[in-house]
Amino acid sequence: MTSALINMVGTATHTITMPTRPPLTAPHFSVCVYCGARPGDEPVFAETARQVGEWIGRHGGQLVYGGGSNGLMGILADATLAAGGRVVGIIPQALVDKEWAHLNCSELHVVDTMHERKRMMAERADAFIALPGGIGTFEEFFEVWTWRQLGYHNKPVGLLNLNGYYDGLLNFLGSVVQHQFMGNWQMDLIAVDSQAPALLEKLVQSAGLHYSLRSEAL
Ligand code: AMP
Repeated sequence: MTSALINMVGTATHTITMPTRPPLTAPHFSVCVYCGARPGDEPVFAETARQVGEWIGRHGGQLVYGGGSNGLMGILADATLAAGGRVVGIIPQALVDKEWAHLNCSELHVVDTMHERKRMMAERADAFIALPGGIGTFEEFFEVWTWRQLGYHNKPVGLLNLNGYYDGLLNFLGSVVQHQFMGNWQMDLIAVDSQAPALLEKLVQSAGLHYSLRSEAL
């Protein structure tokens, strides 16, 4: 049996016992993933969330995410755990009250506010990646990108443009540069790719971290 740490920030720390999972070793890297709390309309979204979770788990990594069990978020967390990775979920009490927390996380931190959640997610991660999602995903992605341009952190930020999902956004950002409300150097702060494994590899490498495939996954 392994234990999941449930940490109520500002109050006591509780430990609960969770079902058996493979023994966990120290993660080689932590990737914060932002993605939809809904599954989207095409199977490729769920397949890709699963692929990202598997990649993190198979490469000995740790997922840091919003701690939800719905949509792409839940699929991503389940796939990471199934591939032997650690999952750190950070969720505000209000969403736990709606029973949206993923109780199988290796660590589940229940915080008071969204601001605390995002700060903690940023602190625990070596790199950030946004998959397809809705306004929650956009807000998280833009915040971490903005923090990077202001020098609050120096961690790589990636956008997975799966099947052109973010083409409209990228076109708009191009016009923002044209209108001189942003410079090309700001665009250069984000890595964009349509392939999840290639983007993950790029982000982990630019964070200066090493990884290897878990032998049992080969
Ligand atoms: P959205 O893209 O609007 O579906 O929002 C998803 C993003 O916002 C995730 O990366 C989460 O951090 C946060 N979020 C939104 N809804 C939930 C939820 N039901 N449970 C946990 N986190 C959520």
